[in-house]
Amino acid sequence: MDFIDLKSQYAALRDNINARIQRVLDHGQYIMGPEVKEMEAALSAYTGARHSISVASGTEALLICLMALELRPGDEVITSPFTFAATAEMIVLAGGVPVFVDIEPGTANLDATLVEAAITPRTRAIMPVSLYGQVADMDALNAIAGRHGLAVIEDAAQSFGATYQGRKSGNLSTFGCTSFFPSKPLGCYGDGGAIFTSDDALAQACREIRTHGQSQRYLHTRLGVGGRMDTLQCAVVLGKLERFEWEVRRRLELGEAYGAKLRAAAPGLQLLQVKGGRDCVWAQYTVFVDDREAVQARLKQAGIPTAVHYPRPLHHQPAYARYAAAHACPHSIAAAQRVMSLPMSADLTEDQQDRVVSALAQALG
Ligand SMILES: *Cc1c(COP(=O)(O)O)cnc(C)c1O
Repeated sequence: MDFIDLKSQYAALRDNINARIQRVLDHGQYIMGPEVKEMEAALSAYTGARHSISVASGTEALLICLMALELRPGDEVITSPFTFAATAEMIVLAGGVPVFVDIEPGTANLDATLVEAAITPRTRAIMPVSLYGQVADMDALNAIAGRHGLAVIEDAAQSFGATYQGRKSGNLSTFGCTSFFPSKPLGCYGDGGAIFTSDDALAQACREIRTHGQSQRYLHTRLGVGGRMDTLQCAVVLGKLERFEWEVRRRLELGEAYGAKLRAAAPGLQLLQVKGGRDCVWAQYTVFVDDREAVQARLKQAGIPTAVHYPRPLHHQPAYARYAAAHACPHSIAAAQRVMSLPMSADLTEDQQDRVVSALAQALG
């Protein structure tokens, strides 16, 4: 069993993806070819954001947004320490200071009730992470940001396709940033990502930053990066959009089914909480276990792959330890010790899911 089954997905979409890749090879516009604009238009139609800007990766999306906000050295960005490193890494690279605020123990998302107390005169932005595919309390975060004149950047790398109060993840705040890394809910066959915004001036800034700060060819108005997404990868995303609605539906169904089956087979197991007014696209189907290493070893013996997202909160990582002092994050520390992700993808079969559930119930004793 694959942890994430990309082979069945390719088998289902093979003709469409192959034809789209062939078209790029035929026209030869490998950089900023027609598929780039076509994909950006499709993503805007899907998310409802006025602007979709394709970029080289999810990491690059975060960096370009932060550059568009023109942080001054020492400006602070409030974020969760329980995330992939790129979230805080790009804050530092853009000249800012990550201010880590703890997560809710149930959802593992940034705890909005702790954010206002962490705001200082240097705060410029809040960067919640839609971890595992569920959006954080965005209404509360947007309200706080509005009161204090801050930008909100949603790290939506794991949540493309999720909804919050009927609106799509990525289109909920100043910026949304997603990733098309192959294993994300919408992936390409390499690196790719996108920025979503409905702010015309910020969108223009992001487009310029994406190509070395050029406002026109060889006129470098601002500092930028080489941050474009390849035409070939945009063609792959377009191919995958063909059945993406089905995949999202299937992910929601499999998430529900995992919950029901695990509650029945392993009643003591702590599951991720999905809060009201939103759904989770389960980029990872993550549960909380004690004695994780032993459970993982038993599952491995039963042929069930697992993973840990993430084993160490960022304020305990050597590169970010200097930002640890401000706020205690006990729930992030506890989650890092206990989270374990199970096989998940739209092509996971019910039979496979049943095998995972019974192996886990047995592994838990
Ligand atoms: C995957 C991921 C990123 C980075 O995306 P890449 O496309 O791999 O650069 C950033 N933040 C989170 C939460 C992620 O899961």
